Amino acid sequence: MKIYTEEKKVKELLEKARKVYQKRDARIEGMTDESEETFYSCTLCQSFAPTHVCIITAERTGLCGAYNWLDGKASFEINPTGPNQPVPKKEVIDPVLGQWKGVNEFVFKASRQKLEKYNAYSIMVDPMTSCGCFECISAVLPMCNGIMVVNRDFTGMSPCGMKFTTLAGSVGGGAVTPGFVGHSKHYICSKKYIMAEGGIKRLVWMPKMLKEEMMDRLKKRGQEMGIPNLPEMIADETIGTTEDEILPFLTEKGHPALSLPSLF
Ligand code: SF4
Repeated sequence: MKIYTEEKKVKELLEKARKVYQKRDARIEGMTDESEETFYSCTLCQSFAPTHVCIITAERTGLCGAYNWLDGKASFEINPTGPNQPVPKKEVIDPVLGQWKGVNEFVFKASRQKLEKYNAYSIMVDPMTSCGCFECISAVLPMCNGIMVVNRDFTGMSPCGMKFTTLAGSVGGGAVTPGFVGHSKHYICSKKYIMAEGGIKRLVWMPKMLKEEMMDRLKKRGQEMGIPNLPEMIADETIGTTEDEILPFLTEKGHPALSLPSLF
């Protein structure tokens, strides 16, 4: 392992690493949760969040963004007794919430009987546990009938009234916290992103840096959903950092979240 501290070199390597991750993410694009019979677990974060279990599906990467389904599979093949175990889906309990019998059984055992179930695609109904090393947190914004997402690198205030660090302290630790969920950056543009509540159509606020980083995928996802100008409708900190400040912008843009069923 080599640790680089010179800014110029760090930036150079960061670009290189991003390209490798983009290539890796592209390999999984065509896969769906429906087409796979087995998901993979990750329990690495149990060292600090003892009840946390990541279930890595084809369309939902691990919370830290470091593991996707292919990584889980490869890791299990290299180390069959390691932290990434195959999880057979078994019967589908709820295809919209993202709940499977085999996943519930695994989570119950791996959380040492602390959790009986959770849902992979919902933020409101028993969302997946959040550990502490998630790349982003999504949180409900009741006034806007939508959801905001904030990434770890953004140090400013967010419209839910908390900065990332405060949010991470309240949501992390292996808890199931309805209204909040930790996840990777990649998951934001997945078709399964909070699908139970309307998916990315609910996304009303995100930091500008995150929006710019994800712009190509946001545009593509917007087009798939018939809203090609979706990225322009999502507010950021230059519009406001409170619900009061961003609501007029969302109304003016005709953001789809405002016409979706009420979250409560
Ligand atoms: S956040 Fe990452 S390291 Fe932690 S349990 Fe999930 S996939 Fe594993």
